[in-house]
Amino acid sequence: MGLRTDFIWMDGTLVPWDQANVHVLTHALHYGFSVFEGIRAYETADGKSAVFRLHEHVDRLFGSAKVLDMVIAHTRDEIAKACVDTLVANKMPAGYIRPIAFVGSGESMGVNPGKNPIRMAIATWPWGAYLGAEALEKGIRICTSSYTRHHVNVMMTKAKVAGNYVNSVLAKTEALADGYDEALMLDPSGYVAEGTGENVFIVRNGVIKTPPLTSILAGITRDSLIILARELGYEVVEQLFTRDELYMADEAFFSGTAAELTPIREVDRRVIGQGHAGPVAKALQAAFFKVVKGENPAYSRWLYPFSL
Ligand code: PMP
Repeated sequence: MGLRTDFIWMDGTLVPWDQANVHVLTHALHYGFSVFEGIRAYETADGKSAVFRLHEHVDRLFGSAKVLDMVIAHTRDEIAKACVDTLVANKMPAGYIRPIAFVGSGESMGVNPGKNPIRMAIATWPWGAYLGAEALEKGIRICTSSYTRHHVNVMMTKAKVAGNYVNSVLAKTEALADGYDEALMLDPSGYVAEGTGENVFIVRNGVIKTPPLTSILAGITRDSLIILARELGYEVVEQLFTRDELYMADEAFFSGTAAELTPIREVDRRVIGQGHAGPVAKALQAAFFKVVKGENPAYSRWLYPFSL
């Protein structure tokens, strides 16, 4: 099985993969009340490895927990170290890291989490290009979803909460069943929000535009690309835009820890730009990969180095 490794970190210790189990009455399984992260580690130019923006991911995890009024029984430093310990225990110089804090079982059921323990696990697994290796180069075909992204007062959209992802799963499976690679989600007012697990950018007349942090997840890749793009000399604006503006864009791309920078070549059967990765997407993607692979010392602060 592709996800199988030797160990998973659970509640403070590394346990064999087969033993990282929970009870079927786990509260989070019934009500979706858990918060998680998706983090990537890359092999770096010095022959070692680094986790990309680990502290920012751990901070977002604790922020998500705070939003749900969930107390994680470990410090941020302990969780950061545990992410790396899990990679090392699994002999993984690179890969994906999935920390999750969830309401456990044993005390009560019903919507109130009550006295059920808050548990924490960290799994790692190898993950290549999320939308396929070809997608990174050629771009993907997406459709506007029939499902609307959450209203900010229906779900807590800044928190990476498991339950929020029912919306993403519905949109993703619909898009795949209809022959597209990914879904584009609009916010309740009809503006472009994000993908099912990605932030979205467009380029028009040399200006890069991405939706502001209203109803969307504050992507760490989004933040990184904004910084890198400005450094490359591009103007970047955080502004709401509509799907027709996306149709008219010269370029469009998704960003995310899993998706990295994936160009979008078609939206709702309309070809974007030249129908392949455009020059801005290519330049930014190259800059991003240089940074994560430790080839740009100016951004070494974003790397949490480790070796096996
Ligand atoms: N939006 C959603 C809904 C996501 O799930 C993700 C992935 N975490 C992102 C955006 C991108 O965030 P990041 O760049 O931090 O992975």
